[in-house]
Amino acid sequence: MADMSFDVVIVGGGNKASVAAMYLTKYGKMSVGLFEDRHEAMAGWCAEEAPAPGFIAHQCSHLHADTLNYHRPLWDDFPEWKDYGADYVDRKVNYGFVDKVDQRWCGVYNLNLDPEQQKTYELFARFSQKDADTWMWITDKMNKYWEPAFLKWVFNPAVPYGQKDAMDNLIANPDAGIDPLWLTYTPVQIYHELFEDPFVQATFVRAMQSGGIEPDGAGQGLTALLAFCNWRRAGTAKGGNHQLAHATQRVIAENGGKFFYRSPVAKILIENGRAKGIKLENGTEIEAKKAVLSGVDPYQFVFNLVGPEHFDPLDVKRVKALSMDWITIGWYTWALHEQPKFYAEKWGEDIDHCMWLCSGTKDIEDVARESYQRRMNEWPDPENFQMIISNHSNAEPDCGYAPLGKACVITEQFVNPAWRYTEAEWKVIEKRFADEQIRHWQKYCPNMTWDNVIGYVPITPFYTSRHARNWGRSGNWNVLDMIPSQVGRNRPTPNLASGRIPGVKGLYATGAGWHPFGWGQSFQGYWTYKNFAQDFGLPKPWEEKGREF
Ligand SMILES: Cc1cc2nc3c(=O)[nH]c(=O)nc-3n(C[C@H](O)[C@H](O)[C@H](O)COP(=O)(O)OP(=O)(O)OC[C@H]3O[C@@H](n4cnc5c(N)ncnc54)[C@H](O)[C@@H]3O)c2cc1C
Repeated sequence: MADMSFDVVIVGGGNKASVAAMYLTKYGKMSVGLFEDRHEAMAGWCAEEAPAPGFIAHQCSHLHADTLNYHRPLWDDFPEWKDYGADYVDRKVNYGFVDKVDQRWCGVYNLNLDPEQQKTYELFARFSQKDADTWMWITDKMNKYWEPAFLKWVFNPAVPYGQKDAMDNLIANPDAGIDPLWLTYTPVQIYHELFEDPFVQATFVRAMQSGGIEPDGAGQGLTALLAFCNWRRAGTAKGGNHQLAHATQRVIAENGGKFFYRSPVAKILIENGRAKGIKLENGTEIEAKKAVLSGVDPYQFVFNLVGPEHFDPLDVKRVKALSMDWITIGWYTWALHEQPKFYAEKWGEDIDHCMWLCSGTKDIEDVARESYQRRMNEWPDPENFQMIISNHSNAEPDCGYAPLGKACVITEQFVNPAWRYTEAEWKVIEKRFADEQIRHWQKYCPNMTWDNVIGYVPITPFYTSRHARNWGRSGNWNVLDMIPSQVGRNRPTPNLASGRIPGVKGLYATGAGWHPFGWGQSFQGYWTYKNFAQDFGLPKPWEEKGREF
């Protein structure tokens, strides 16, 4: 007999699974139990007071690239979420690029603060009038066609091959201006084709790499272009991403949902083709009266929790072969005595208000070169670092990440996967890598010497792979790479992407390893509830509110 029982039992209190739990408890009126391996839920929305008192460091998601679209339906369906602390500080400039040699920068302004994109237009025009005009053309297409289609695509379960989804309809619409050839391009090709000035091209290529899109990856041109739709209002959660987790937890708790911590799940129990519950590593069994929802990675889900015998052999083969080694990052939070001062401030002061600034070289092939190096299992050349500098403490002191007058900055540099080095080697690398970053940073900000550093938190792929099980042996922050065979209706496999598991009743899956891709947004959590609403006849707030997604 089971030790406990819920309508829906959730494996892993991830941010996607927890968003589904918000809907299941409040709208579906289901009893829900979430069983989490760590000391707290939502590994992807966490923050700690570090590296010094009064500073906030994110061990995982930091940049929420679109503070509206990331959680678009939630703002509507859970007005209390914001009251409980889920709120953002928008940054003036979403993303940008600063060049090592001539110390100028370019960037894209936040749509919330520059709704007509006039400021972006003016900045681009300082480099190329043609590129400024192209940006206004893209903005118009995004407003009218791309963003509405994008929202329908990401906030709905994956549609199987043979049926058209929002993206297919978008591409087929001549007014949308999408050239089908772009589907086959690499991002580098697409930015070369659209823009003529290297600064403008460089503004996009490294930022999109941060989204998980390979600059040199064939067939990723359209993804790179549509990713613009998810990068229009960049910001950070007020007080850190754990505030999102706390607010989420409160909504679930007040609607009767229960979290269980330090409760690693060993097995999903299947009997006669139906998911009956789970077994924890300590042997406790929990009954699922209606369904089991998994919020972990596809590999663990298929091979450890459910067992490959319950899946189509082709899916088993495909999940085993999933690519996970490319999206692996060094992610350091720096506590600083004073704000980094850029040489490029002379060119435009708004560089200090850029959420996601790539410090690199304006030859966009350099980003591709760095990628080739990592593919050959080499450490990226420190002379060719394409390093993101995200200073979130100067322009908006109320975001609460640093004591007033001090600075808190994240840097991101893509590096090798966790398994590439031993634990002892990573310990040596951590310090060497910190030195490499400071040397690189000085080329853009003369005051960025060790004297300015109070402390730092070194997050490497090694750390990430141990932080939560779902990030696997590579420490891939998106769980899976975002190559075309692992995006949208292909993620993790075409047969599993919808989140319903063929052949097993009452078994559902969600998380960053599912359609459409990773990131700290709420897409998967929301469409997961749509599956439940359909299968169990639960309320559909989108229909009641006339929402298109
Ligand atoms: C270093 C880093 C930087 C990132 N930066 C960004 C960023 O700037 N912007 C952005 O949008 N995204 C970013 N991300 C990605 C984002 O955080 C993740 O893609 C997303 O949060 C994953 O959500 P999820 O619900 O799938 O998983 P999670 O929120 O990770 O939740 C999965 C949960 O399942 C638990 N679990 C796993 N296995 C078991 C088990 N067997 N039993 C019980 N519990 C289990 C885990 O402990 C975890 O809490 C970053 C991630 C990392 C690691």
